Amino acid sequence: MNKKCDILILGGGTAGIITAAQLQKQHEKFSVIIVEPSEKHFYQPAYTLVGAGTYKMKDCIRPEADYIPSGVEWIKEYAEKIDPHQQLVYLKNGDAISYRTLIIATGVTYDFSMIEGLKEALDKGIACSNYLDPEKTWELLNQFKGGNAVFTQPSTPIKCGGAPQKAAYISADYLRKKGLANKTNIILAMPGSVIFGVKPVAESLLAKVKEYNIQLMLGLNPVKIDSVNKKIYFKIVIQDAFKISDEVSKKIELYIEKEIVVIPFDFLHLAPPQTTHTFLKESGLTNLQGWVDVNINSLQHKVYPNIFSLGDAAALPTAKTGAAIRKQVPVLIENVISYLKQKQVNNYSYQGYSSCPLVTGYNEMVLAEFNYKNEFTPDPKLKQMLVFNSAKPHWRLWILKKYILPHLYWNKMLRGIKV
Ligand SMILES: Cc1cc2nc3c(=O)[nH]c(=O)nc-3n(C[C@H](O)[C@H](O)[C@H](O)COP(=O)(O)OP(=O)(O)OC[C@H]3O[C@@H](n4cnc5c(N)ncnc54)[C@H](O)[C@@H]3O)c2cc1C
Repeated sequence: MNKKCDILILGGGTAGIITAAQLQKQHEKFSVIIVEPSEKHFYQPAYTLVGAGTYKMKDCIRPEADYIPSGVEWIKEYAEKIDPHQQLVYLKNGDAISYRTLIIATGVTYDFSMIEGLKEALDKGIACSNYLDPEKTWELLNQFKGGNAVFTQPSTPIKCGGAPQKAAYISADYLRKKGLANKTNIILAMPGSVIFGVKPVAESLLAKVKEYNIQLMLGLNPVKIDSVNKKIYFKIVIQDAFKISDEVSKKIELYIEKEIVVIPFDFLHLAPPQTTHTFLKESGLTNLQGWVDVNINSLQHKVYPNIFSLGDAAALPTAKTGAAIRKQVPVLIENVISYLKQKQVNNYSYQGYSSCPLVTGYNEMVLAEFNYKNEFTPDPKLKQMLVFNSAKPHWRLWILKKYILPHLYWNKMLRGIKV
């Protein structure tokens, strides 16, 4: 069975549903189809809280059917191939859909093969990840009795780049409350040369690192996990950034073999390496790094003018977050509609806004808001919440994260109401 539509959206996650909902509210005369295989919709930003035992996983999941806007057709299937010349998307069940414009919003997929032994370590419950199973993180954190607690992330772009370090701060707070701080070495190992790209935020995070006595190790990329001996291997990717004293090395029993740093662990949390789905690469729509190759300001594909992309799948050099999608959607919609009407796009105004709510402990958070230039751009509305410096940890920001943002997500953003 073949179908056709004006606007075809691949993926009904955060970006796909918000886009469909706003399209329906503003431009209902255009026919819209969403291809989304999952019957469930996930609110991923709360996973950090689930991993710290302060939010229920069941509250992060709702039926997808409840959020497909009325008037939009939902096809519960995987997209498997795109033919941009024929303007056709082929589905796993063999059907094809013909489109006038296509929006790619399929998010990321995980590439476990980039870290040797990662899959085995996760399957055996030796390592955990808030990206995959935050309830497991909480379970392992509770079983931890002291020793080395290692938190790390890969060198690929990841969704919510701050999430691996949020896990470190809130776990450090938990271990301190549990009286385990003196028996624990918390190690935060990251591939970059700085803790965070936005200066005032980085200063607050470094203060937290000091307060929790976290061993921060920069310039390290995880390459291998040995589940039997519980050791993680890192390649030194930025020689100048990696610094460690003999005293700390000895305390955590770290050793270096050529360019490889080896750390034994008793608890290990990490984000898996991330990329886009293979079918996008095979359809010739991605750049050399594997992300959908769009203009970073208009979100229009660089080669095929009737293809657009937003959210985690798109090649946008900013943090991959739901908050970024909130600002991308209006630009993308204006350009899709303008393309349908006049075969050209005019809106080049997306300047890379993203935001990372950095939970720094129970009951406090820093809100990093920034653009492509990594300039700190706090929302003026925060002042109405009596938050005058969101680069510093604040209890009101925790309330925003735990209560206000989930409410806005389910009841406003997914319903096409601009917030
Ligand atoms: C631990 C964690 C913490 C986070 N914290 C925050 C935070 O505090 N703030 C914030 O703003 N963001 C946060 N994020 C990031 C945020 O959740 C993502 O950036 C956002 O969900 C991306 O939306 P998306 O639509 O691009 O992808 P997704 O929401 O992942 O949706 C992609 C959709 O595409 C579908 N799909 C996949 N393959 C196919 C296919 N072949 N055909 C059709 N459909 C397909 C999937 O089923 C899925 O529904 C966090 C994420 C994680 C994992």
